[in-house]
Amino acid sequence: MSTQPSQQDWQRRSLNAVWHPCTQMARAAVVPPLPIARGEGPWLHDYEGRRYFDANSSWWVNLFGHSDEGIKDAIKQQLDTLAHVMLAGCTHAPAVELAEKLSALTGGALGHTFFASDGASAVEIALKMSFHSWRNRGLEAKREFVCLRHGYHGETIGALAVTDVAVFRDAYAPLLMPSHVVDSPDSRLGADSEARALAALRGVLEARRGHIAALIVEPLVQCAAGMVMHEPSYLRAVRALCDEFEVHLIADEIAVGCGRTGTFFAFEQALASAGPPQAGETPSGGGARTRASGGARLVGWPDFITLSKGISGGTLPLSLVLTTESVFQSFWSDEVARGFLHSHSYTGNALACAAANAVLDRFANQQVLENNREQARWLQNAFAPLHSDARVEHLRQRGMILAFDVRADLVGERFAERFHLAAREQALLIRPIGRTVYLMPPYLVDEPTARFLAHAVTQTLNEVLSHAA
Ligand SMILES: *Cc1c(COP(=O)(O)O)cnc(C)c1O
Repeated sequence: MSTQPSQQDWQRRSLNAVWHPCTQMARAAVVPPLPIARGEGPWLHDYEGRRYFDANSSWWVNLFGHSDEGIKDAIKQQLDTLAHVMLAGCTHAPAVELAEKLSALTGGALGHTFFASDGASAVEIALKMSFHSWRNRGLEAKREFVCLRHGYHGETIGALAVTDVAVFRDAYAPLLMPSHVVDSPDSRLGADSEARALAALRGVLEARRGHIAALIVEPLVQCAAGMVMHEPSYLRAVRALCDEFEVHLIADEIAVGCGRTGTFFAFEQALASAGPPQAGETPSGGGARTRASGGARLVGWPDFITLSKGISGGTLPLSLVLTTESVFQSFWSDEVARGFLHSHSYTGNALACAAANAVLDRFANQQVLENNREQARWLQNAFAPLHSDARVEHLRQRGMILAFDVRADLVGERFAERFHLAAREQALLIRPIGRTVYLMPPYLVDEPTARFLAHAVTQTLNEVLSHAA
């Protein structure tokens, strides 16, 4: 009888051969990684017959659960046809269809899609494209970027330069281009937090007038910062400021896109109450085009939207940057060097695009956003008792993201790690950020599931805080 490798075998072999991301490996030797044998729906199964609810959607990438039949079928069909071909000099149906669908989702305002493979490279692309677009228009001085306090945009050198999360950034600070970090709005800090953040932004835009290429923001929720939330009104004001100072607005929707916050793009919530004419109602082009032609100042779409994570439903790496006709036109030329010459080997991978098309078809045909609103309400109701839990602060929610902070004086040492380990005993896979506990579950929450999640989180809290230092 052949013996399969055990849970412990995989742990030992992984520690020998795999350098795990976002991990101090010396600590991993003490707290080894959890070997996962398979995934099904919201559940991840280990090698010893235990299962865990994937409360963080495998780093925010999963939308409809693991091993989703529709997405699997789309990938299998594509695999039998064409797995990959380079997107320079060639094109293929899955990429074309995906770009067309995304354009339609913005009412044509962001009608051009540039593909890449992971989130950080999409951010790199948006930064480079913004700078190059201004340069092509003779505005070479516009080469500086503004980002928000505690914002996160990925960990390659360019993306890290507009990321303000100390643990990712500090070691590499000497390598990074300087950028302007301004206060971010944070609903936990009271009503005037938004006004202060906007004043700080205006200050930088005024001081560096003519030098700023773009502002990059995570609309509605700064996820890696610890699910820091703000209102759509902030985004509207930001759009207006970017118009006033002729600065591109990059909406990094890598985490918050794909229905996570209640609309397909989080930024749509800023458009919705902007008053007529709304972007989706503009016959061809939308607000961005109107601005570019020097017309009325509408509250329009961002100049760039980055997407990744959920776009392939958690199956294959894919990222993309959507942009406007105006940016696209600034590269249109007989000169090669005025083109956008950026590329990655797997740019627009056909398998990943097929998965993404299946994801978008789901949104088009199956009332995903309506269902999410119901699921979000179940989560809200199930977690409501935490509002009166003295150990907990700032219980907050935006769509399918729910978070709270555990009081600083209660958490003790290594809170996130202890919480993560204790939660496994409750069949819950969850990784707090510092003392912020959050859920970003697959869109598979029914009422009993919401109650299970609230129960498991509360039990874990009881367990962890009773042993706190
Ligand atoms: C995850 C994330 C990124 C980086 O994406 P990767 O695929 O991990 O490189 C960028 N921006 C935001 C907002 C993210 O959440």
